[in-house]
Amino acid sequence: MKTTIKSAIFTQYNKARSCGAFDARRCNRSIGILQHGQQRPYHTTITTCDCPDSLNGHICKHRIALAIAYRSFEQLCKTAYSIVINGKIIVDGEIFSSILDTATAHKIAQSRLTPRHVNGAIAYHYEGN
Ligand SMILES: [Zn+2]
Repeated sequence: MKTTIKSAIFTQYNKARSCGAFDARRCNRSIGILQHGQQRPYHTTITTCDCPDSLNGHICKHRIALAIAYRSFEQLCKTAYSIVINGKIIVDGEIFSSILDTATAHKIAQSRLTPRHVNGAIAYHYEGN
């Protein structure tokens, strides 16, 4: 992971750990998912997951990882020079965590940045001060 992506993920990980809403061990395990993707094909949203842990009533590591990815991407949209979304999410030339779906990434990016079509992909460029 590039420093900026890594930094955003760890900032949001620390917030997730310290807010008290999530189990600390599951927070720790979510980092592996953020770095390497989900090993099993669970269907995960911020509020639901079909893994055994979630079905037992816990906020599982998959949901925590997705929440951290969502918040990290929001954070990166404020500072990244360029974001390209075309099957994969590329932030300043580096692949962002694979667990955030591209439709959600578009929604987050569009709330902050202006999209442009570049070689079939949709790119967002920072043009601020
Ligand atoms: Zn899960």
